Amino acid sequence: MGLGDRHQKKDVEAALKRAEAAGLKVTRTGKNHQWGWVLCCPCNRKHTVPCTPQSPGEEARYIDRFTRRHAHCA
Ligand SMILES: [Zn+2]
Repeated sequence: MGLGDRHQKKDVEAALKRAEAAGLKVTRTGKNHQWGWVLCCPCNRKHTVPCTPQSPGEEARYIDRFTRRHAHCA
């Protein structure tokens, strides 16, 4: 993730950093209220990250769950 690609919600941004640290790929899309994706390349699954989640804390937990589920794949 380059500079300027941070998520505006710090809880979500922190979860995205944890996903990257676990070896998953974070991709910025920036289309249609979609901030981007967290991708697991080995099994080709992705979690879509909204730009403005209703609950940033909840969205961060979804990302963490995806990360835990896929950390073994990387
Ligand atoms: Zn996976």
